[in-house]
Order: sequence, then structure tokens, then C-alpha cells
Amino acid sequence: MAELQEPKYVSWNGELIPWKEATLQIDCEGVKRGLNVFEGLKGYWHDDGGFGLIQVKRHYERFRESARLLYVPFEWTFERYQESIFNLMKKLLIPEKDMWIRTTLFGVEGHWGIDTKADMVMTAFNQNKVMPGPINLGISNWQRSMDVSLPYRIKTGANYQVGRLARIEGRQKNCQEMVLLNRWGRVAEATGACILMVRKNKIITPPTYEGALESITVDIAAAIARSLGIEFERRPIDKTELLIADEIAICGTLAEIVPVKSIEGLPLNPEGAVLEAVRNRFFDIVRGRSSHPEVNISFVPLPKTV
Ligand code: PMP
Repeated sequence: MAELQEPKYVSWNGELIPWKEATLQIDCEGVKRGLNVFEGLKGYWHDDGGFGLIQVKRHYERFRESARLLYVPFEWTFERYQESIFNLMKKLLIPEKDMWIRTTLFGVEGHWGIDTKADMVMTAFNQNKVMPGPINLGISNWQRSMDVSLPYRIKTGANYQVGRLARIEGRQKNCQEMVLLNRWGRVAEATGACILMVRKNKIITPPTYEGALESITVDIAAAIARSLGIEFERRPIDKTELLIADEIAICGTLAEIVPVKSIEGLPLNPEGAVLEAVRNRFFDIVRGRSSHPEVNISFVPLPKTV
């Protein structure tokens, strides 16, 4: 997970400004009502010295969709979006670390949806290059909201209040991540990632309508599974079915693909062959050791010295 860092620069409406100057007025809707939409993107160093960002176009599209669903105006072209990310990264990248980038639209003007104006803020954080180790996963008493309450499809800060509560609950049980169930008691997703489960050599994940974000990493996992000849199905998962899964992993841009070593205190094999095959291929692709037609990598134009 991202450590708390204070990078030197922040991109604000495309201009690079010092971290300390990147502040919001206390009465704006972005602060007062938590009006924001965001995306989290990840980039990796390749063995040949290039630096590649994963599925930037898809992140841009989901960002636009989140803004549309919250009636937050967002007019940027994809080219401007990507270029601004590149400009920030060129300032902050270091050879020893990968990078996680957060692009956020904060509501800075407007009232109850009248005359809403939003600023585009981009922050980027250094990330260790290590593959994440197996985790304990718990099942939360808190519930994923519904499409008609706080739609899970929108990537907005407000949606993470319940995830925060679930993580507080999880820490008491020594669980690094928690599963949120939906109102029918079936698996929705984790607090910051989706759930992949294996039963009888088939990978299963809940569809979005069960309460999950439209995950870009799940789509990558599905594409990898298809190319490895592993069956991949999107269908509802009962809580008890998750408890008897053969393998489980959490899956997301920041989380990547992390094996689960216990679910609700019940031991699981974190080295299950099915998810490990997908995971190994995932890291080969993001590190540029192999390519995949469904995984797009944008290379940051770097000066030769970085
Ligand atoms: N669900 C939630 C709540 C998340 O925050 C994330 C991380 N963005 C995901 C799922 C996984 O989505 P993605 O693979 O697009 O990062």
C-alpha cells in the first residue's frame, strides 16, 4: 500500500506547483461534501530502462464516467490527461521505485450541483518494486452501498468511508484487507480491490452489479486467464462459497494481484497454481518482459539520464 509521502510537486490544472501550495478552500464542495472523483494509475520500470503506465486510456474513460455520473464538468482530452501525468512523473520518478499516480477532480465552485466547477489535481507517489506477499482477508460487517444509494461504479472519495470503517474493523482481526458484502449478503469487493476466487480450477469474480467497481485489473486478469486457457466467470458469490474457495486473491491497480493466505481465520493455500499463473504473467506484462494484446502500456518520455 502507498506510504504517506509528500512529493515535491503536484500538478494543478496541468501546472506543476509545490506540494505545500496545493490546498483547497475549506468551504468548497470538494471539502464540505467530499465532492471529488479520482483514478489511481500505476507505472512500472522495465528491464530495458523504459517506464510504462498501464491502461491509461481505460483509466481516463472511467474517470470521465465517474465525473459524468456526479455531474462534475470535465472537458480534458485524453492527450492532455496523459501529457499532464507524464509531466508530473518526469519530475518525480526515481530509478529505484515504481510509481502510483492519483488524478482527482475536486469540486471547487458551485452549490448543490449548481454551477459546479472542478480543478484537476494530480499527485504521484513512489512505490517499492517488490511483489506483494500473501495477506489475511476478513469479511466486514459493513456493507457495500447500492447503485441507488452511493453507486459503487463511481470512483469518488465518499465511497471509501465504508472501506475505512471496514479496515478499522480488519485491523482488530489482523486482516490487511476486508471483503464488503452487498445487501443480499453476497461478495461485492474488498475496500480497495476486487475479489478473485478459484473453484475447480476456474476463476470467478462478482459482476459489477453485485457491488464492485468496474475494475481495470480484473479485466486484465480475465484476458490473461483466457490466453492461459483458464476459465474465467463473472457471477454472484455467496459468503459461504468464498469461505470454501480453493484459492483467493485481491486484485486492483495499487493492490496488483495479491494472494490470500487466510479468509476469516481459515487457512488457504497462498501458492495455488491457478492464480499464481495469472499473477506471474501479470508481472511479466507490466514489467515489459512479455506483452499482451489487451494490455496497453504508455511509455513516459524520459530524458536519458533518469
Ligand atoms: N474496488 C475498489 C473499491 C477500488 O478502490 C479498486 C482500486 N481502484 C478496485 C476495486 C480495483 O479497480 P482497478 O483494478 O480498476 O484498480
